[in-house]
Amino acid sequence: MGERIAVIGGGAAGLISAIMAARRGKSIFILERMPRTGKKLLATGNGRCNLTNMDLSVSHYHGEQKEAMMSTFEQFSKEDTIQFFHEIGIDLIQEEDGKLYPYSLQASSVVDNLRYEASRLGVTEICEFDAASIRPSKGGFQITAYNGKTFQADKVILAAGGRAASHLGSNGSGYSLAQSLGHSITETFPALVKLKLKEPFLKEISGVKWNGTVTVCQAQTSKVDEILFTDQGISGPAVFEISRFVSEQTVLGREAEIKLDLYPKLEQDDLADRLCQRFYTMGYKTLEENLNGFFHKKLIRAFLKSQSFDPGRFAETVTAAEAKQLAKALKAWPFYAVATAGYREAQVCCGGVRTNEVDPLTMESLKCKNLFLAGEILDIDGDCGGYNLQWAWTSGAIAGNHV
Ligand SMILES: Cc1cc2nc3c(=O)[nH]c(=O)nc-3n(C[C@H](O)[C@H](O)[C@H](O)COP(=O)(O)OP(=O)(O)OC[C@H]3O[C@@H](n4cnc5c(N)ncnc54)[C@H](O)[C@@H]3O)c2cc1C
Repeated sequence: MGERIAVIGGGAAGLISAIMAARRGKSIFILERMPRTGKKLLATGNGRCNLTNMDLSVSHYHGEQKEAMMSTFEQFSKEDTIQFFHEIGIDLIQEEDGKLYPYSLQASSVVDNLRYEASRLGVTEICEFDAASIRPSKGGFQITAYNGKTFQADKVILAAGGRAASHLGSNGSGYSLAQSLGHSITETFPALVKLKLKEPFLKEISGVKWNGTVTVCQAQTSKVDEILFTDQGISGPAVFEISRFVSEQTVLGREAEIKLDLYPKLEQDDLADRLCQRFYTMGYKTLEENLNGFFHKKLIRAFLKSQSFDPGRFAETVTAAEAKQLAKALKAWPFYAVATAGYREAQVCCGGVRTNEVDPLTMESLKCKNLFLAGEILDIDGDCGGYNLQWAWTSGAIAGNHV
């Protein structure tokens, strides 16, 4: 009998690694804890699967020792990813910000075609196999599931993901499996996630969407895009992008100071001039009425009150210095983030198995021979925009090619 290879986890990294290894004639068994493989993939990109990005620069990736892993993209690049998907039946289309999606704009077509290819190559899927332990045995590994079932393999690819969105499969159990074979794990925290703020007026402004810049003061990092105010905090593309830096603070029990620039296209002085002009020409209106048409109606009261201005005050009574003060606040409205919405709502889990314990040329463990690791289980995470899936494809393909 030939070598038996177990892939623990049938997500993005597990599926591509299984295909690559099977293309080299190996006998592959995917052990997946959920009733089916690819469950998280179905939810990616709002059901459309943003599977890579035209710009894969290192700055889009994070992790304690990310540099060591970036050479993996030379082995399995964005072009290789595009070629791989083309070969299995997925043509790609480029949308905003260099994001690439399947032409069908359906994540399900990505999962279907990965599974067709795996099945064509004779890969066996064993679902509802929730790996609880993995032990060296008979020159290979014995993997035991929570229900007592066992599986003997010569080599293992551990692609069990992180802790994000556990309802879609990855519940952090991969970390314990890696630790039991000698690996260490960096601190994990959720990212690409909503933020919880401590301001008392959030319910009043819930549902408002506004294009602005979100800045995390401690990290001096900013992002301009849509901001969505929710009952408990803020969400939306701009917030997702900076959430990693907030999460780094809140996981340590610290509040993160956030500033919102609600008029990123206007300089503060221009904004102050516009306000003075409005207050002068329509001084007979209250501040609340006066700002209606220039500022989102639902934000006006909360904003004015947060700056200790009475919304019922007549605009003509506002001095030039006060108009300047309001302009300054509109360019840097301060909020305090106390937490993120947590792993369940996060798109990615930062941290994981230390990457200096893995050979980037093969993805084989430097702690345990014949163990390979791929995907989000490792301490690499990417920005929003296809970067996390690209990491899963790259690390998974390399593991599959070398297992
Ligand atoms: C809602 C949502 C949207 C996203 N959208 C995008 C996007 O558009 N673009 C992008 O680049 N990234 C996106 N991501 C992130 C991306 O999906 C992940 O980074 C990527 O799927 C990680 O791949 P993985 O194979 O390493 O882990 P996963 O996809 O999490 O797969 C791990 C698999 O292992 C299984 N498993 C875990 N533990 C065990 C065990 N003990 N035994 C057996 N099986 C186990 C899990 O059930 C799961 O199937 C999104 C994430 C979410 C949650």
